[in-house]
Amino acid sequence: QAKAAGRNTFRFYDESMQVAIKQRVSLESALRQGLQLRQFQPFYQPQVNEEGWVVGAEVLVRWLHPEKGMISPADFIPVAEETGLIIPLAELLLTQVCDQLVAWSRLPGFADLSLAVNVSARQVRQEDFVERIIAQVRHSGANPQRLKLELTESLLLHDMDDMIRKMTALKAFGIGFSLDDFGTGYSSLSYLKLLPLEQLKIDQSFVRDLLSDPNDAAIARTIIALADSLGLSVIAEGVEQECQRHFLAAQGCHTYQGYLFGRPAAVVDFMASLQLDPQGRLILRSASPT
Ligand code: C2E
Ligand code: MG
Ligand code: MG
Ligand code: MG
Repeated sequence: QAKAAGRNTFRFYDESMQVAIKQRVSLESALRQGLQLRQFQPFYQPQVNEEGWVVGAEVLVRWLHPEKGMISPADFIPVAEETGLIIPLAELLLTQVCDQLVAWSRLPGFADLSLAVNVSARQVRQEDFVERIIAQVRHSGANPQRLKLELTESLLLHDMDDMIRKMTALKAFGIGFSLDDFGTGYSSLSYLKLLPLEQLKIDQSFVRDLLSDPNDAAIARTIIALADSLGLSVIAEGVEQECQRHFLAAQGCHTYQGYLFGRPAAVVDFMASLQLDPQGRLILRSASPT
């Protein structure tokens, strides 16, 4: 019985494997072509502090495919990683992000924004990761102080000494680091203090049911306290409701990102969603200036 089921499972697996391989090969060549045609664009999602000031944005890549429409990064980043295409993709994206920072540096309010860029394992494991980033930022003329890199926990575990060396060099150049999806990986408290981090980012999975699930609330509280005692800032992602923001604020988390404030948007839409308040601070247009 079990053996028969096993065989069936195997046959099914075999066929779906072939489909998966075909899909992957076509996705890979579409990615290659998309890169050549520059179909990738940075979208920007606002990061807002307790005063309602927009302090920065996370850069989230979007693939604007001429036939398939907008493709989510979850559907192509893994293949881009496996094939190594993430390297030219990240380079294209960082160029656009740095050019944006330069353009904003002359614009009141926008000049103070910092941009957080997601980094993948394949990238940081390049021998010359640090040199490439520095060369790119220098070439663009962007202020590295306005740039943040988002890392995930899994990425740090691979080769700690190498990561610390690379992060330290980039930090000396002016770039900050945020630990993304924090709480979902294998966090060892001992490594946290060794890394030149600037920020912990509470994963959205803990924010979602913050008010109904005591475990999630406890985890969020613990991350906030941990950040505090390590001298790091903390930001919550996936904030969709005012009650979540309120709860987080009461626990001591003062920076937020999520649909409550804005969805990731193309640069024109992102800029159009913001305005200067009378004190010259950048706020959301939907929020009335105080
Ligand atoms: P992430 O870095 O954790 O990004 C947060 C994800 O949550 C984004 O999904 C964002 O659109 C989504 N999000 C933001 N606010 C809310 C909210 O209030 N509710 C809900 N339900 N979701 C929210 P997105 O844009 O689909 O990106 C998915 C993941 O793909 C990212 O997770 C990141 O790991 C990866 N990614 C995106 N852009 C890049 C990139 O340029 N390079 C690399 N290496 N990875 C990227
Ligand atoms: Mg991120
Ligand atoms: Mg995240
Ligand atoms: Mg996430």
